[in-house]
Amino acid sequence: MKVFKFGGASVNNTERVKNLGKILKRYPDEKLLVVISAMGKTTNALEKVAEAFFQGKKEEALQLFEQVKQQHLSTAKYLLVLNYLPCAVQLKNFFTEAEWLLHDKPVRGFDYYYDQLVCIGELLSTALISHYLNEIGIENKWIDVRDIIRTDDNFRDANIDWEFTRSKVQSSIAPLFNDIPIVLTQGFIGATDENESTTLGREGSDYTAAVFSNMLNAESQTIWKDVISVMNADPKQFPDALPIHELNYNEVIEMAYYGAQVIHPKTIKPLQNKGIPLYVKCFLDPSLEGTVIHDKALNHLPPIIVLKEKQVLLEMSSKDFSFVGEHHVGHLYHLFEKLKIKPNLTQNGAISFLCVLDDRPEKIEKLALEASEIFNVTVMKDLSLLTIRHYNKEIFEKLAGDKKILLRQQTQDTIQVLVQ
Ligand code: ASP
Ligand code: MG
Repeated sequence: MKVFKFGGASVNNTERVKNLGKILKRYPDEKLLVVISAMGKTTNALEKVAEAFFQGKKEEALQLFEQVKQQHLSTAKYLLVLNYLPCAVQLKNFFTEAEWLLHDKPVRGFDYYYDQLVCIGELLSTALISHYLNEIGIENKWIDVRDIIRTDDNFRDANIDWEFTRSKVQSSIAPLFNDIPIVLTQGFIGATDENESTTLGREGSDYTAAVFSNMLNAESQTIWKDVISVMNADPKQFPDALPIHELNYNEVIEMAYYGAQVIHPKTIKPLQNKGIPLYVKCFLDPSLEGTVIHDKALNHLPPIIVLKEKQVLLEMSSKDFSFVGEHHVGHLYHLFEKLKIKPNLTQNGAISFLCVLDDRPEKIEKLALEASEIFNVTVMKDLSLLTIRHYNKEIFEKLAGDKKILLRQQTQDTIQVLVQ
């Protein structure tokens, strides 16, 4: 069996949902587990609902949610005839789940409400598409993945309970393929042992697909995207980016670590552990080659470029000229953990510690405030972090030659510079 994952852009309008049907028809004899994201920008819209609700703006939250409802109902109306009614009933159950909560007052933390509301996006899209596919003769079974993927209650970045989930996959998912060719479900979401919904972090559907691939021993996983293949840079930033048709797990995990937006960083491990190849294919033209990611040693990879913008440099220096050693650095890492901050680059000097972070003002303020008890803290904003893997002199000169470099780190494979 194979695992397919379709992202939000692949189902952001009725034509694209139909296109998804055409892609599945290319695999008539396959057993497929299909993971589908929320449609288009639904997740962003639901984040707005959660924010309004949490700020006590109930009417605004309800109104924003109403837009999400109408979008899905009108998509369902357009795509469905026979299945419209049962689909509408199912969608309305999810609407009720959310509205029931929106009529309350927030008494728990924001992240809890975020997950209860944002998870609705994937439930709506998959329910709708499942009805559509069944209506056009692509037989499939819809599953609420919250019955399968068990997580802890670290809302918005929940951790999967592998043992429980694996046994659920064995007992409740694997046998379905005896009777039906396609099982269709959500990525990105799960539930705690108290049946509270959780999410796995933005763009987490790739990861869910990989968890299923691992647990079902899939022969391959395919991520259907709106790009022709993985590229050596983001084409929005570098118009002359080049396609890469073959990569290995190691390279991709490094690319994701440095911030390439190719694939969710957690996706690779479950696939690597079972040696399952990952294909990246273009849903707009499935005949294109795309990219395969597998377990091969590869020579001659082109330079791979990751440019992270809106970076902040925090410099923390000791107040009394004492060394910044294990004790201080340990303290800072505790702060990172507590504030859920992942530095993009760090560097230790005799009496200072530098770190480069994404510009999340509320987190940086908290960090700077707490760190200022021990250090003198200075903050510099609007910087860019350029990473080049497999660099050479020419490419480095071309991309960084005329820039003011504030910080530089270099290994044989990778060079990173923080520039103004
Ligand atoms: N819908 C979620 C998001 O937009 C998860 C995903 O697409 O992977 O982040
Ligand atoms: Mg997405």
